[in-house]
Amino acid sequence: MIRAVAGLVAVLSLVAGAGTPPASGMVPDAASFTVAGLRPPIVWKPIPFGARRKSEMAAYSKRHYGQHTWRLQDPKVIIEHYTDGTTWQGAWNTFAANSPHNGELPGTCAHFIVGRDGTIYQLVHLWIRCRHAVGMNYTAIGIEHVGTSDQMVLGDAAQMHSSLRLTLWLMARFHINIGNVVGHNETLYSPYRLELYPSWQCLVHADFPHWAMRKYRTRLRDLAGRRGVPVGKGPVWTNKYGC
Ligand SMILES: [Zn+2]
Repeated sequence: MIRAVAGLVAVLSLVAGAGTPPASGMVPDAASFTVAGLRPPIVWKPIPFGARRKSEMAAYSKRHYGQHTWRLQDPKVIIEHYTDGTTWQGAWNTFAANSPHNGELPGTCAHFIVGRDGTIYQLVHLWIRCRHAVGMNYTAIGIEHVGTSDQMVLGDAAQMHSSLRLTLWLMARFHINIGNVVGHNETLYSPYRLELYPSWQCLVHADFPHWAMRKYRTRLRDLAGRRGVPVGKGPVWTNKYGC
């Protein structure tokens, strides 16, 4: 956080009703923005995530990451997805259903869905782990985009505008550099990838591979430049499980 305006940022964060206390620590130095000022409009559409689902998430975390917790603390990665559907309600229903995936509970979810018209829906609090990407859920915020292909999402101006604003706000709020804004398909090569089940270590989906995310990150850099937000280091890829 910028020291000179720390008090102002705190006040603005409360006014904005972000749902959690303002992030502590350091936002990259820049005098021209506040974290709260970057926050796009967000529609709160919670899926059921009560004690039972939290306990399922904690057990999942223990099995796959070695930590028995449902809490998402200090997230380091933002993951972009597309829903492979055409309505936000369809995706919301899938995530709300809490149906087993790969034979395990809890069901899949994402923190946000960005609709075709650019409406941003938030489904889950940012302090809760959501199951959206194997190997990453212990540290990643998930953003779903309604659509059936990377190109469909990249070609939708309203949806892209909202997505980039949302991602930039999350980057500033949680001090996440642009190199850790990744597509679901790219998570195979993220230095943060962690998966204790050998048979799951190379599991990944096809959404948002490198070519699509290169476009996405270029647009994100452009927006960040216009808003005076430093983006930090670009991607550094690894392949720790030899996938
Ligand atoms: Zn995905």
